[in-house]
Amino acid sequence: MGNTTLTRMETTLIRYGLETYQDVIDFNRADEHAKAIFSQLFDAYAETPSQSYYTYQGCYKSEEEFAADLVNEIGILESDWSNYFDYDKWTNDLFERDYTSLDCRKCDEVMIVRYE
Ligand SMILES: [Zn+2]
Repeated sequence: MGNTTLTRMETTLIRYGLETYQDVIDFNRADEHAKAIFSQLFDAYAETPSQSYYTYQGCYKSEEEFAADLVNEIGILESDWSNYFDYDKWTNDLFERDYTSLDCRKCDEVMIVRYE
């Protein structure tokens, strides 16, 4: 069968957004979810696939879930004081400056994007 369900966004990405050899490689190696992400990022920010790795952080159920994951990754809460951590303020600060989210058109979660 092959991929006969290319969307308008993916067609636009293929036509205008695969500028370098690396872009073509990245797009061809991507699975369907990643192709959807690439095309959505090109649609929103004119980012090509090889650039998208830097800004796309993954799909999450919510901004709060991403922010909580980031806390664990950084490891700033490995103390007895972790119960006092303000997750809402942390999430608000992150998404006020460095991150934003878009509805992923492939998986019904939100895609988290980091500003450069
Ligand atoms: Zn997704």
